[in-house]
Amino acid sequence: RSARLDGIGTTIFAEMSALAVETGAINLGQGFPDQDGPEVVKEAARAAITDGPNQYVAGIGIPLLREAIARHQQRFHGIELDPGREVVVTTGATEAVAAALLGLVNPRDDVLVLEPFYDSYRAMIQMVGARHRAVTLRAPDFRLPVDELRAAVTPRTTAIVLNSPHNPTGAVLTREELTAVAEVAIEHDLVVISDEVYEHLSFATPHVPIATVPGMAERTLTISSAGKTFSFTGWKVGWATGPADLVDALMGAKQFLTYTSGTPFQPAVAAALDLPDAFYVALRDDLRHKRDLLCAGLADLGLDVFVPEGTYFATTDVAPLGFDDGLEFCRELPRRAGVVAIPHQVFHDDRPDGSNPGRTLVRWAFCKRETVLDEAVTRLARLR
Ligand code: PMP
Ligand code: GLN
Repeated sequence: RSARLDGIGTTIFAEMSALAVETGAINLGQGFPDQDGPEVVKEAARAAITDGPNQYVAGIGIPLLREAIARHQQRFHGIELDPGREVVVTTGATEAVAAALLGLVNPRDDVLVLEPFYDSYRAMIQMVGARHRAVTLRAPDFRLPVDELRAAVTPRTTAIVLNSPHNPTGAVLTREELTAVAEVAIEHDLVVISDEVYEHLSFATPHVPIATVPGMAERTLTISSAGKTFSFTGWKVGWATGPADLVDALMGAKQFLTYTSGTPFQPAVAAALDLPDAFYVALRDDLRHKRDLLCAGLADLGLDVFVPEGTYFATTDVAPLGFDDGLEFCRELPRRAGVVAIPHQVFHDDRPDGSNPGRTLVRWAFCKRETVLDEAVTRLARLR
Protein backbone atom coordinates (compact mmCIF):
# COMPACT_ATOMS: atom_id res chain seq x y z
CA ARG A 1 0.00 0.00 0.00
CA SER A 2 1.27 3.44 -0.87
CA ALA A 3 1.73 6.20 1.67
CA ARG A 4 -1.21 7.84 -0.03
CA LEU A 5 -3.41 5.37 1.86
CA ASP A 6 -1.80 5.83 5.27
CA GLY A 7 -4.49 5.86 7.93
CA ILE A 8 -7.24 5.16 5.40
CA GLY A 9 -9.01 2.02 6.57
CA THR A 10 -12.00 0.22 5.10
CA THR A 11 -14.94 2.56 4.57
CA ILE A 12 -17.58 2.25 7.29
CA PHE A 13 -20.20 1.55 4.61
CA ALA A 14 -18.44 -1.65 3.53
CA GLU A 15 -17.92 -2.76 7.15
CA MET A 16 -21.51 -2.16 8.21
CA SER A 17 -23.19 -3.52 5.07
CA ALA A 18 -21.08 -6.69 5.35
CA LEU A 19 -22.21 -7.00 8.97
CA ALA A 20 -25.83 -6.59 7.86
CA VAL A 21 -25.46 -9.44 5.34
CA GLU A 22 -23.62 -11.66 7.83
CA THR A 23 -26.18 -11.21 10.62
CA GLY A 24 -29.34 -10.78 8.54
CA ALA A 25 -29.92 -7.45 10.28
CA ILE A 26 -32.08 -4.66 8.86
CA ASN A 27 -29.67 -2.28 7.13
CA LEU A 28 -30.39 1.29 8.19
CA GLY A 29 -26.69 1.99 7.68
CA GLN A 30 -25.55 2.54 4.09
CA GLY A 31 -27.87 5.00 2.36
CA PHE A 32 -29.68 3.13 -0.40
CA PRO A 33 -33.43 2.76 -0.88
CA ASP A 34 -34.99 -0.70 -0.59
CA GLN A 35 -37.22 -0.01 -3.59
CA ASP A 36 -35.92 0.83 -7.06
CA GLY A 37 -36.79 4.03 -8.88
CA PRO A 38 -39.45 4.52 -11.59
CA GLU A 39 -40.26 1.72 -14.04
CA VAL A 40 -40.16 4.13 -17.02
CA VAL A 41 -36.54 4.89 -16.18
CA LYS A 42 -35.67 1.18 -16.01
CA GLU A 43 -37.47 0.73 -19.32
CA ALA A 44 -35.33 3.47 -20.85
CA ALA A 45 -32.19 1.66 -19.66
CA ARG A 46 -33.47 -1.66 -21.04
CA ALA A 47 -34.23 0.01 -24.38
CA ALA A 48 -30.76 1.53 -24.48
CA ILE A 49 -29.18 -1.86 -23.79
CA THR A 50 -31.28 -3.44 -26.55
CA ASP A 51 -30.88 -0.72 -29.16
CA GLY A 52 -27.60 0.90 -28.08
CA PRO A 53 -25.53 2.85 -27.56
CA ASN A 54 -23.53 0.28 -25.61
CA GLN A 55 -20.01 1.35 -26.58
CA TYR A 56 -17.79 4.17 -25.37
CA VAL A 57 -19.29 7.59 -25.82
CA ALA A 58 -17.67 11.00 -25.40
CA GLY A 59 -15.98 11.24 -22.01
CA ILE A 60 -17.98 14.33 -21.14
CA GLY A 61 -21.23 12.34 -21.52
CA ILE A 62 -23.90 11.97 -24.23
CA PRO A 63 -25.47 15.24 -25.41
CA LEU A 64 -28.96 13.97 -24.49
CA LEU A 65 -27.97 13.64 -20.83
CA ARG A 66 -25.94 16.85 -20.67
CA GLU A 67 -28.91 18.72 -22.13
CA ALA A 68 -31.27 17.10 -19.59
CA ILE A 69 -28.93 18.06 -16.74
CA ALA A 70 -28.87 21.66 -18.01
CA ARG A 71 -32.71 21.68 -18.24
CA HIS A 72 -32.93 20.31 -14.68
CA GLN A 73 -30.61 23.01 -13.31
CA GLN A 74 -32.70 25.65 -15.05
CA ARG A 75 -36.08 24.18 -13.97
CA PHE A 76 -35.26 23.75 -10.29
CA HIS A 77 -32.58 26.32 -9.62
CA GLY A 78 -32.80 28.90 -12.41
CA ILE A 79 -29.20 28.13 -13.42
CA GLU A 80 -28.45 28.62 -17.14
CA LEU A 81 -25.76 26.29 -18.53
CA ASP A 82 -24.18 25.58 -21.88
CA PRO A 83 -24.50 21.78 -22.07
CA GLY A 84 -21.58 21.71 -24.48
CA ARG A 85 -19.03 23.20 -22.09
CA GLU A 86 -20.50 23.54 -18.62
CA VAL A 87 -21.83 20.03 -17.89
CA VAL A 88 -19.91 16.78 -17.45
CA VAL A 89 -21.27 13.30 -16.72
CA THR A 90 -19.33 11.29 -14.13
CA THR A 91 -19.35 7.85 -12.53
CA GLY A 92 -21.43 8.94 -9.58
CA ALA A 93 -20.97 12.02 -7.46
CA THR A 94 -18.00 10.21 -5.91
CA GLU A 95 -16.00 10.40 -9.13
CA ALA A 96 -17.08 14.00 -9.66
CA VAL A 97 -15.68 14.96 -6.24
CA ALA A 98 -12.50 12.94 -6.82
CA ALA A 99 -11.89 14.36 -10.31
CA ALA A 100 -12.66 17.90 -9.12
CA LEU A 101 -10.09 17.58 -6.32
CA LEU A 102 -7.50 16.02 -8.66
CA GLY A 103 -8.13 18.65 -11.29
CA LEU A 104 -8.25 21.73 -9.08
CA VAL A 105 -6.21 21.16 -5.93
CA ASN A 106 -2.42 21.03 -5.68
CA PRO A 107 -0.39 18.85 -3.32
CA ARG A 108 0.12 20.68 0.00
CA ASP A 109 -2.95 22.89 -0.52
CA ASP A 110 -5.47 23.14 2.31
CA VAL A 111 -9.07 22.21 1.60
CA LEU A 112 -11.93 23.16 3.90
CA VAL A 113 -14.59 20.55 4.65
CA LEU A 114 -17.64 20.55 6.86
CA GLU A 115 -17.22 18.02 9.66
CA PRO A 116 -18.74 15.44 10.04
CA PHE A 117 -17.76 14.81 6.41
CA TYR A 118 -18.84 12.18 3.90
CA ASP A 119 -15.91 9.79 4.16
CA SER A 120 -14.66 9.96 0.57
CA TYR A 121 -13.75 13.65 0.99
CA ARG A 122 -11.07 13.16 3.62
CA ALA A 123 -9.64 10.13 1.80
CA MET A 124 -9.58 11.86 -1.58
CA ILE A 125 -8.04 15.06 -0.24
CA GLN A 126 -5.29 12.93 1.27
CA MET A 127 -4.79 10.99 -1.98
CA VAL A 128 -4.39 14.30 -3.79
CA GLY A 129 -1.62 15.12 -1.31
CA ALA A 130 -3.52 18.04 0.19
CA ARG A 131 -4.64 18.59 3.78
CA HIS A 132 -8.23 18.89 4.94
CA ARG A 133 -9.21 21.48 7.51
CA ALA A 134 -12.48 20.66 9.25
CA VAL A 135 -15.18 23.12 10.26
CA THR A 136 -17.40 21.32 12.73
CA LEU A 137 -21.21 21.33 12.68
CA ARG A 138 -22.20 20.48 16.25
CA ALA A 139 -25.28 18.86 17.79
CA PRO A 140 -28.04 19.64 18.50
CA ASP A 141 -28.75 21.91 15.51
CA PHE A 142 -25.61 21.41 13.36
CA ARG A 143 -25.45 25.06 12.23
CA LEU A 144 -22.40 26.37 10.36
CA PRO A 145 -20.07 28.19 12.77
CA VAL A 146 -19.16 31.04 10.44
CA ASP A 147 -16.38 32.42 12.66
CA GLU A 148 -14.74 29.01 12.75
CA LEU A 149 -15.00 28.77 8.98
CA ARG A 150 -13.17 32.09 8.66
CA ALA A 151 -10.57 31.01 11.21
CA ALA A 152 -9.93 27.74 9.36
CA VAL A 153 -8.67 29.52 6.22
CA THR A 154 -4.87 29.48 5.85
CA PRO A 155 -2.60 31.02 3.20
CA ARG A 156 -2.59 27.58 1.55
CA THR A 157 -6.36 27.19 1.36
CA THR A 158 -7.55 26.88 -2.24
CA ALA A 159 -10.88 25.04 -2.07
CA ILE A 160 -13.95 24.24 0.00
CA VAL A 161 -15.87 21.00 -0.28
CA LEU A 162 -19.40 21.91 0.66
CA ASN A 163 -22.29 19.49 1.18
CA SER A 164 -25.89 20.58 1.65
CA PRO A 165 -28.30 18.95 2.43
CA HIS A 166 -25.61 17.56 4.64
CA ASN A 167 -24.70 13.91 5.15
CA PRO A 168 -24.70 12.69 7.93
CA THR A 169 -26.32 15.46 10.02
CA GLY A 170 -29.30 16.23 7.74
CA ALA A 171 -28.62 19.97 8.13
CA VAL A 172 -29.62 22.19 5.21
CA LEU A 173 -27.47 25.30 4.90
CA THR A 174 -29.51 28.49 5.00
CA ARG A 175 -29.13 31.31 2.52
CA GLU A 176 -27.35 33.28 5.28
CA GLU A 177 -24.87 30.47 5.88
CA LEU A 178 -24.27 30.09 2.14
CA THR A 179 -23.73 33.83 1.86
CA ALA A 180 -21.14 33.63 4.62
CA VAL A 181 -19.38 30.78 2.79
CA ALA A 182 -19.51 32.88 -0.38
CA GLU A 183 -17.89 35.84 1.36
CA VAL A 184 -15.03 33.67 2.56
CA ALA A 185 -14.63 32.03 -0.86
CA ILE A 186 -14.59 35.36 -2.67
CA GLU A 187 -12.29 37.07 -0.16
CA HIS A 188 -9.72 34.26 -0.37
CA ASP A 189 -10.31 33.34 -4.03
CA LEU A 190 -11.34 29.74 -3.28
CA VAL A 191 -13.14 27.30 -5.55
CA VAL A 192 -16.17 25.57 -4.11
CA ILE A 193 -16.86 21.92 -4.85
CA SER A 194 -20.49 21.65 -3.82
CA ASP A 195 -21.89 18.15 -3.31
CA GLU A 196 -25.66 18.46 -3.68
CA VAL A 197 -26.71 14.83 -4.11
CA TYR A 198 -29.62 15.39 -1.69
CA GLU A 199 -30.83 18.52 -3.52
CA HIS A 200 -34.38 17.14 -3.80
CA LEU A 201 -34.48 15.98 -0.19
CA SER A 202 -34.85 19.25 1.71
CA PHE A 203 -38.05 18.94 3.71
CA ALA A 204 -38.86 22.44 4.94
CA THR A 205 -37.20 24.97 2.66
CA PRO A 206 -36.11 24.58 -0.96
CA HIS A 207 -32.46 23.66 -1.40
CA VAL A 208 -30.29 26.60 -2.47
CA PRO A 209 -27.29 25.76 -4.67
CA ILE A 210 -24.36 27.94 -3.62
CA ALA A 211 -23.77 28.60 -7.34
CA THR A 212 -26.86 30.84 -7.21
CA VAL A 213 -25.37 33.12 -4.53
CA PRO A 214 -24.01 36.30 -6.17
CA GLY A 215 -20.35 36.00 -7.16
CA MET A 216 -20.32 32.21 -6.82
CA ALA A 217 -21.30 30.85 -10.25
CA GLU A 218 -17.82 31.52 -11.60
CA ARG A 219 -16.03 29.66 -8.78
CA THR A 220 -18.35 26.73 -8.06
CA LEU A 221 -18.60 23.19 -9.36
CA THR A 222 -22.04 21.84 -8.48
CA ILE A 223 -22.21 18.07 -8.16
CA SER A 224 -25.18 15.73 -8.00
CA SER A 225 -26.15 12.23 -9.05
CA ALA A 226 -29.00 9.96 -10.08
CA GLY A 227 -28.47 7.69 -7.09
CA LYS A 228 -30.46 9.53 -4.45
CA THR A 229 -32.93 11.46 -6.60
CA PHE A 230 -34.07 8.52 -8.71
CA SER A 231 -33.34 5.62 -6.34
CA PHE A 232 -30.76 3.97 -8.57
CA THR A 233 -27.70 4.19 -6.34
CA GLY A 234 -26.04 1.25 -8.13
CA TRP A 235 -26.12 2.91 -11.54
CA LYS A 236 -23.43 5.36 -10.48
CA VAL A 237 -24.36 8.16 -12.84
CA GLY A 238 -23.42 11.58 -11.54
CA TRP A 239 -22.57 14.97 -12.97
CA ALA A 240 -20.85 18.26 -12.33
CA THR A 241 -21.86 21.64 -13.67
CA GLY A 242 -20.15 24.99 -13.57
CA PRO A 243 -17.95 27.36 -15.54
CA ALA A 244 -16.11 25.84 -18.51
CA ASP A 245 -12.65 26.28 -16.96
CA LEU A 246 -13.60 24.32 -13.83
CA VAL A 247 -15.43 21.64 -15.84
CA ASP A 248 -12.34 21.37 -18.07
CA ALA A 249 -10.09 20.85 -15.05
CA LEU A 250 -12.40 18.12 -13.71
CA MET A 251 -12.51 16.50 -17.17
CA GLY A 252 -8.71 16.66 -17.37
CA ALA A 253 -8.62 14.23 -14.44
CA LYS A 254 -11.75 12.24 -15.27
CA GLN A 255 -10.47 11.30 -18.74
CA PHE A 256 -7.74 9.22 -17.09
CA LEU A 257 -9.80 7.85 -14.20
CA THR A 258 -12.66 6.27 -16.15
CA TYR A 259 -12.58 8.07 -19.51
CA THR A 260 -16.38 7.68 -19.84
CA SER A 261 -19.29 6.47 -17.70
CA GLY A 262 -21.86 3.64 -18.18
CA THR A 263 -23.29 4.34 -21.64
CA PRO A 264 -26.81 2.82 -21.57
CA PHE A 265 -27.60 4.38 -18.19
CA GLN A 266 -27.08 7.84 -19.64
CA PRO A 267 -30.23 8.07 -21.81
CA ALA A 268 -32.18 6.50 -18.94
CA VAL A 269 -31.02 9.17 -16.49
CA ALA A 270 -31.84 11.81 -19.11
CA ALA A 271 -35.40 10.49 -19.15
CA ALA A 272 -35.47 10.52 -15.34
CA LEU A 273 -34.33 14.14 -15.10
CA ASP A 274 -37.23 15.17 -17.35
CA LEU A 275 -39.85 13.53 -15.09
CA PRO A 276 -42.61 15.98 -14.13
CA ASP A 277 -42.46 18.06 -10.95
CA ALA A 278 -44.97 15.66 -9.36
CA PHE A 279 -42.29 12.96 -9.24
CA TYR A 280 -39.91 15.14 -7.27
CA VAL A 281 -42.66 16.31 -4.90
CA ALA A 282 -43.75 12.73 -4.25
CA LEU A 283 -40.16 11.66 -3.53
CA ARG A 284 -39.76 14.40 -0.94
CA ASP A 285 -43.18 13.87 0.64
CA ASP A 286 -42.60 10.13 0.92
CA LEU A 287 -39.24 10.59 2.61
CA ARG A 288 -40.52 13.33 4.91
CA HIS A 289 -43.20 10.91 6.07
CA LYS A 290 -40.62 8.15 6.60
CA ARG A 291 -38.40 10.57 8.48
CA ASP A 292 -41.26 11.38 10.84
CA LEU A 293 -42.06 7.72 11.32
CA LEU A 294 -38.50 6.68 12.15
CA CYS A 295 -37.77 9.74 14.31
CA ALA A 296 -40.94 9.15 16.38
CA GLY A 297 -39.98 5.51 16.83
CA LEU A 298 -36.43 6.33 17.89
CA ALA A 299 -37.62 9.02 20.30
CA ASP A 300 -40.07 6.54 21.89
CA LEU A 301 -37.09 4.32 22.64
CA GLY A 302 -35.57 7.09 24.75
CA LEU A 303 -32.93 8.23 22.28
CA ASP A 304 -32.17 11.92 21.75
CA VAL A 305 -33.23 12.46 18.14
CA PHE A 306 -31.96 15.28 15.93
CA VAL A 307 -34.67 15.52 13.29
CA PRO A 308 -33.02 16.19 9.90
CA GLU A 309 -34.08 19.06 7.64
CA GLY A 310 -32.88 17.10 4.61
CA THR A 311 -31.21 13.89 3.29
CA TYR A 312 -32.54 10.49 4.25
CA PHE A 313 -30.60 10.14 7.47
CA ALA A 314 -31.66 10.82 11.05
CA THR A 315 -29.15 11.25 13.87
CA THR A 316 -29.51 10.19 17.48
CA ASP A 317 -27.37 10.41 20.57
CA VAL A 318 -27.08 6.93 22.08
CA ALA A 319 -25.66 8.19 25.40
CA PRO A 320 -29.10 8.18 27.08
CA LEU A 321 -29.20 4.41 26.52
CA GLY A 322 -25.95 4.08 28.45
CA PHE A 323 -23.54 3.81 25.50
CA ASP A 324 -20.44 6.00 25.44
CA ASP A 325 -19.07 4.99 22.02
CA GLY A 326 -21.18 5.04 18.85
CA LEU A 327 -18.75 2.87 16.87
CA GLU A 328 -18.88 0.10 19.47
CA PHE A 329 -22.64 0.55 19.66
CA CYS A 330 -22.95 0.08 15.86
CA ARG A 331 -20.63 -2.93 15.86
CA GLU A 332 -22.74 -4.65 18.54
CA LEU A 333 -26.16 -3.53 17.35
CA PRO A 334 -26.71 -6.16 14.61
CA ARG A 335 -26.23 -9.03 17.07
CA ARG A 336 -28.03 -7.35 19.97
CA ALA A 337 -30.99 -5.97 18.07
CA GLY A 338 -30.82 -7.05 14.41
CA VAL A 339 -30.34 -3.54 13.04
CA VAL A 340 -27.40 -1.78 11.36
CA ALA A 341 -26.63 1.93 11.73
CA ILE A 342 -23.63 4.18 11.06
CA PRO A 343 -21.55 5.95 13.75
CA HIS A 344 -20.87 9.65 13.18
CA GLN A 345 -17.46 9.50 14.80
CA VAL A 346 -15.81 8.04 11.69
CA PHE A 347 -16.82 11.22 9.84
CA HIS A 348 -14.86 13.34 12.34
CA ASP A 349 -11.17 13.74 13.04
CA ASP A 350 -10.13 12.41 16.43
CA ARG A 351 -8.86 15.35 18.46
CA PRO A 352 -5.30 15.30 19.88
CA ASP A 353 -6.75 14.60 23.34
CA GLY A 354 -8.59 11.56 21.96
CA SER A 355 -12.01 13.19 22.05
CA ASN A 356 -14.38 13.16 19.09
CA PRO A 357 -17.39 15.47 18.66
CA GLY A 358 -19.41 12.61 17.14
CA ARG A 359 -18.46 10.03 19.78
CA THR A 360 -21.99 9.01 20.77
CA LEU A 361 -23.90 10.07 17.65
CA VAL A 362 -25.41 7.44 15.36
CA ARG A 363 -26.99 7.85 11.90
CA TRP A 364 -30.06 5.89 10.76
CA ALA A 365 -31.24 5.73 7.12
CA PHE A 366 -34.99 5.99 6.59
CA CYS A 367 -35.11 5.36 2.79
CA LYS A 368 -36.82 2.03 3.48
CA ARG A 369 -40.38 0.67 3.31
CA GLU A 370 -42.59 1.61 6.25
CA THR A 371 -42.91 -2.02 7.32
CA VAL A 372 -39.11 -2.23 7.47
CA LEU A 373 -38.84 0.94 9.55
CA ASP A 374 -41.56 -0.35 11.92
CA GLU A 375 -39.77 -3.68 12.28
CA ALA A 376 -36.46 -1.92 12.96
CA VAL A 377 -38.01 0.14 15.76
CA THR A 378 -39.65 -2.98 17.22
CA ARG A 379 -36.27 -4.73 17.24
CA LEU A 380 -34.53 -1.73 18.78
CA ALA A 381 -36.90 -1.93 21.76
CA ARG A 382 -34.71 -4.90 22.82
CA LEU A 383 -32.05 -2.38 23.79
CA ARG A 384 -34.11 -0.95 26.61
N1 PMP B 1 -21.87 12.51 -1.61
C1 PMP B 1 -22.69 12.31 -0.58
C2 PMP B 1 -22.88 13.40 0.42
C3 PMP B 1 -23.35 11.09 -0.44
O1 PMP B 1 -24.12 10.87 0.60
C4 PMP B 1 -23.13 10.09 -1.40
C5 PMP B 1 -23.83 8.78 -1.33
N2 PMP B 1 -24.83 8.83 -2.32
C6 PMP B 1 -22.27 10.35 -2.46
C7 PMP B 1 -21.65 11.57 -2.53
C8 PMP B 1 -21.97 9.33 -3.50
O2 PMP B 1 -22.83 9.42 -4.58
P1 PMP B 1 -22.66 8.46 -5.83
O3 PMP B 1 -23.19 7.13 -5.44
O4 PMP B 1 -23.47 9.13 -6.90
O5 PMP B 1 -21.22 8.39 -6.16
N1 GLN C 1 -23.97 7.89 0.42
C1 GLN C 1 -24.43 6.70 1.08
C2 GLN C 1 -24.31 6.87 2.59
O1 GLN C 1 -23.86 7.87 3.07
C3 GLN C 1 -23.66 5.48 0.62
C4 GLN C 1 -22.21 5.62 0.74
C5 GLN C 1 -21.35 4.52 0.25
O2 GLN C 1 -21.72 3.37 0.17
N2 GLN C 1 -20.14 4.87 -0.04
O3 GLN C 1 -24.74 5.98 3.28
